Amino acid sequence: MSSKPFGLIESAKNGLKVFTFVVASADFERKLIQSIRVFPIATALMLVIAYLFGGFSDRTDPYIARDTVVLILKIFIAIIPTTFVIFFILADWLKKSEGKRITAAQSKFAFTDPFKLPSQIMHGYKLAFITGRPPTFTGLTGDRYSADDLATCTLNPEHIPPVMDCDCGFYAFKELRDAQFELSINPGAFLIDVDLFGVGFEYGRGFKAESQLVNSLKIPNRCMRCKIFAPIRFVTTYKMGFNSFAYWKWEVRCRMCSATFKEEDTVEFSKMNKHLGISARI
Ligand SMILES: [Zn+2]
Ligand SMILES: [Zn+2]
Repeated sequence: MSSKPFGLIESAKNGLKVFTFVVASADFERKLIQSIRVFPIATALMLVIAYLFGGFSDRTDPYIARDTVVLILKIFIAIIPTTFVIFFILADWLKKSEGKRITAAQSKFAFTDPFKLPSQIMHGYKLAFITGRPPTFTGLTGDRYSADDLATCTLNPEHIPPVMDCDCGFYAFKELRDAQFELSINPGAFLIDVDLFGVGFEYGRGFKAESQLVNSLKIPNRCMRCKIFAPIRFVTTYKMGFNSFAYWKWEVRCRMCSATFKEEDTVEFSKMNKHLGISARI
């Protein structure tokens, strides 16, 4: 549920490291001010070194020629402060564009007052993975939840989701086709039908709300391995996660693709709803 990092210039491929780190403009400015403090110390150090190596003496064979000392001093007096000024202008530009980005995100609200609750029922569709033992819903961002759950905020424990400027809260698309499109680019996920409750925000294409009830889980038409035959049950495999931890991932497979699985690594369709906590009313 972390917010999207705002990169100064997205040039990770060509190795311009200075410009690829994730920059929150305030943080950038703070670091800049901190580094300015080093400037007088560095200047003093330069002068001492120049003095020790004879840069200021009238000797004919100093370790450092007088011209070199003058040149370095010029750099310190002119070029470095100019660089700082340029970086401050850059920091200001960053701040402005970040502000614009936040305003743009806020204008996506369909309501001018986000606390004016939509009077319609917040029904929607979304994607979830099924992971762990016992099998549990896991959002695309990694948060695990039961079929009837309250949202929590992983970024700020003081939040009671949903919070307007934060990513916390349960999301769902209004239209099935939006969720289906999302599914086509997340082939390991399942499509679920949900109702959202509590405080909710309405966006152009979906909702974000306080609590969520999963009504049903759509079983895919094809085996998730061979993509040829119809699936007959859920099986689980142990996967390596992106963050170096391993987890059990559930998918549906056909008779052939699930033949080698042990009894305890399979779940029948009818029993999966019970594991996930989807009530029998649907
Ligand atoms: Zn939050
Ligand atoms: Zn198969």
